[in-house]
Amino acid sequence: MQLGQFTLETVSGGRFKTDGGTMFGVVPRALWAKVFPPDESNMIDQATNCLLIRSGSELILIDTGYGSRLPESQRRRTSSEEGEVLLESLSGVGVSPEDIGTVILTHLHYDHIGGALREDESGQVVPTFPNAAHVVQAGEFEWATSGREELRAAYSADWVTPLADAGLLELVEGDIELRPGIHSIVTGGHAKHHQALLLDSDGQQALYIADLCPTTRHLKSLWCMGYDEEVLVTRRRKPELLGRAADEGWWVLFDHDPETVAARLERDPRSEFTVAEALASL
Ligand SMILES: [Zn+2]
Repeated sequence: MQLGQFTLETVSGGRFKTDGGTMFGVVPRALWAKVFPPDESNMIDQATNCLLIRSGSELILIDTGYGSRLPESQRRRTSSEEGEVLLESLSGVGVSPEDIGTVILTHLHYDHIGGALREDESGQVVPTFPNAAHVVQAGEFEWATSGREELRAAYSADWVTPLADAGLLELVEGDIELRPGIHSIVTGGHAKHHQALLLDSDGQQALYIADLCPTTRHLKSLWCMGYDEEVLVTRRRKPELLGRAADEGWWVLFDHDPETVAARLERDPRSEFTVAEALASL
């Protein structure tokens, strides 16, 4: 997709399956199963739709999927793909890891940062994108490395400290322009310092809303993930941002939707928002 001066492409960081209930929090199964039918084990398909932005000669990647270092038991339980899925996707569009100058991470959960590290031939953990500044909200870095007991299931310091040790972390604070035309919007909700990205070029906008609204089945304000740290913040910020997208004609890009990577939305008096136009790929 061309968005003003930006060329946008979706690159897969790997597909996986997750328990449907965890993706819809308090929503009764009878309701979510109608719009997102689970398999016999109650699992639903998930994508990790990472975004490659070509901006002049600059290559910028948003999020990195779960990478190639999942424990085998987790990989099998979640039917996650083996190997270097993200690197293969990038290679498919003619990009090698050394070409990426910036990686922007929406938050530091494993399915977003996992692909930022890999094992080299000698089994050593190394940055996947050795020439990239990895842009992270400072609060999110602090959260992920805090060792707080209640965050243990959501974060591991091991996923991010090798990037800091390699001098590749760029910590930022708040809503700022991260790169020309790429603006962070700290949303909170899914994670306290979770950020969405607003791409703005030549009067055209696209919102990478990340896990504030992971799929087109999460448009309703009450349809939030069970994983959300601050679910009431998600319920407030999600309709606020989706409303701006609908009113101002922004594309909304979905990070976990297995079928729709981008949509334009309309307000709907009965169901809050509906999809007016959907794209299966960019
Ligand atoms: Zn996620």
